[in-house]
Amino acid sequence: MIVAAVLFAYAALLSTLAPRLLRGAHWAERAPRLGIVVWQALGASALTAAVLAGLALTVPTVRVSADLAELLQACVMALTEQYASPGGAAAGAAGAVLALAVLGRTLWCAGQAIVRIRRERREHREVLDMVGRPDTARGVVVLDHDEPAAYCLPGRHRRTVITTGALRALDDDQLEAVLAHERAHQAERHDAVLAWAQVLTNAFPRIPLFRIAEAEIARLVEMRADDVAAARSGRLTTAAALLAVAGGRAPAVALSASGSTAARRVRRLIEPHRPLSRTRIVAGSLTAAVALAVPLLVVGGPAAAATQVNYCPDGTPAAQVTTMR
Ligand SMILES: [Zn+2]
Repeated sequence: MIVAAVLFAYAALLSTLAPRLLRGAHWAERAPRLGIVVWQALGASALTAAVLAGLALTVPTVRVSADLAELLQACVMALTEQYASPGGAAAGAAGAVLALAVLGRTLWCAGQAIVRIRRERREHREVLDMVGRPDTARGVVVLDHDEPAAYCLPGRHRRTVITTGALRALDDDQLEAVLAHERAHQAERHDAVLAWAQVLTNAFPRIPLFRIAEAEIARLVEMRADDVAAARSGRLTTAAALLAVAGGRAPAVALSASGSTAARRVRRLIEPHRPLSRTRIVAGSLTAAVALAVPLLVVGGPAAAATQVNYCPDGTPAAQVTTMR
């Protein structure tokens, strides 16, 4: 019971406190890729903690043994002992419902998202193939439209799309910056990163952590793509290119070069560049690793300790049962 309570408390604290502390964090703008990883790790950690809390209520933990028959017997006796009392059975049932609900809801929403995204991309690709003009030299599809816009349609049959309005508005260096931005989205699979964040928000819309993580990740993938473009074309050129296509619209299924955070991104590119120090990057990476490890350690710690204890000096399997929930 204690393990389940600790995991519940951890998941609840993480889901409410972390977004308050980290939302709009300036350090993440200085190292957007690290920021994305930290938000992803926090979301995965909260999800894992909730599922493990349910499992910890449902399945009594027994001492690990190399003897399979002995281990199975200990498991059966632990389950029998727990489910013999009404309170134990109710806790076990509640835990099973929680774990299955969290897992089932996540998988259901992920499945829906995969089907929807594939359909929308296929439909948009078919339209592009009908109305777009391939520019093989640049590796893009050109759309005849006065509005300056650029976006990529990710996936296996990816397309980078640019309008004639954007080609007129951008000089060669700025165009290269825009294309580098789109290539960064594709190379780092920002579409998958965003899709997973959206799955968690759709599955659990009332959890602040998932809601805010999705918004922050959407902001940070754009900044990350800007940084890749700036490394190639220079920060001021990238800022100018971003300004030129800032008003352009893109379909929901695509990743655009503009977006609602364009003003902040332009300011960020114009301001003096101050990348995060190596020490702070290591600290951030360690934070993400610790967040991922905590739920597993909470469950695994007592189990590991249990293997060091001789519970049955008289060889009675019932003595091997430990209470770690
Ligand atoms: Zn973009």
